[in-house]
Amino acid sequence: MQMGKKDIETRCCAKCGQWMQKGFIVEQNLTNYIPSVWVEGSPEPSFWTITKIAGKTKRLVVSYRCVECGYLESYATHEWKGKVDPE
Ligand SMILES: [Zn+2]
Repeated sequence: MQMGKKDIETRCCAKCGQWMQKGFIVEQNLTNYIPSVWVEGSPEPSFWTITKIAGKTKRLVVSYRCVECGYLESYATHEWKGKVDPE
């Protein structure tokens, strides 16, 4: 099955068949809300940032929520160039 952009915008729940609402997952860090990103490879420890993600490909996690049963389905399609690298 070919998955075009249109298919992603109007998804159906794999569990109950209802339509799914587009959204994203945020992490709260004191006063900041940071969108979740998918990072390639394995996590490496970093002294300053706990986990080193500089130089790795990051993609914004888009999550679809079923309006009926609440099932979440996540996609990491778009590369994320946002401020998540303090290094
Ligand atoms: Zn559902």
